[in-house]
Amino acid sequence: MDIDFKPIQGTFNFCCTRCGNCCTGDMTIYLNPYDLYKMCRYFNFDTTDGLFLRNIIRLESAENNTWQPVINFRKKPFVFCPFLINEQDEQGKLKGLCKLHPDYKPLICSLAPVGRAICLDTDNDEFIFVKPAPDCAGIGSDITNDLSEIVKQKYKELSFQKRFFKLLEKCSEKSYKKDDYNRLLYTFSMNKNFPDILTDMEKMIKNRGNSPEKYL
Ligand code: SF4
Ligand code: SF4
Repeated sequence: MDIDFKPIQGTFNFCCTRCGNCCTGDMTIYLNPYDLYKMCRYFNFDTTDGLFLRNIIRLESAENNTWQPVINFRKKPFVFCPFLINEQDEQGKLKGLCKLHPDYKPLICSLAPVGRAICLDTDNDEFIFVKPAPDCAGIGSDITNDLSEIVKQKYKELSFQKRFFKLLEKCSEKSYKKDDYNRLLYTFSMNKNFPDILTDMEKMIKNRGNSPEKYL
């Protein structure tokens, strides 16, 4: 995404035209464990292993020496998210639609153009306007969006995301390696509800030293 930070104060103007530009090219879609959980439900997978084995996601080196899952974009005939589909609208124009919309969509995509900056020390959130793509057609719209409504709608997922960021910070402090991140945060089975899975991760990371064992 094009990083153009502007704090959002109450409302902001934006309307997605579904051009699909933010789902193509040089975009990195960072996922959190709840995004993986939703994706597994979409594919009807028993565990998140299927997402890695089917090459849908991969782990990427991220800030503070952490490893985070991202969507593997397809390379041909151009670079694009595998969940992007083109459909004709009522006027016959091609529109970019997301196969995961709305229930399985990654949080980062469903919040766009709202980005989130969390200060973990103070537990404060700041929401910022992040242009989804350099040529995003939704910028300049006169449609008004209310941040508090978005936060209310996404409250559960935002809470999960904050707990995930706290876990990332702990893993970073313990200098865990890529495989450790995979085992502790991104490999889980779907036989529990997500809050319980997250609680298990928190216990595991709290109790482990520098050599985590298999989580499943
Ligand atoms: S680039 Fe902007 S207008 Fe186009 S799909 Fe993304 S958010 Fe919507
Ligand atoms: S998951 Fe959906 S919204 Fe996000 S990049 Fe892929 S197609 Fe676009």
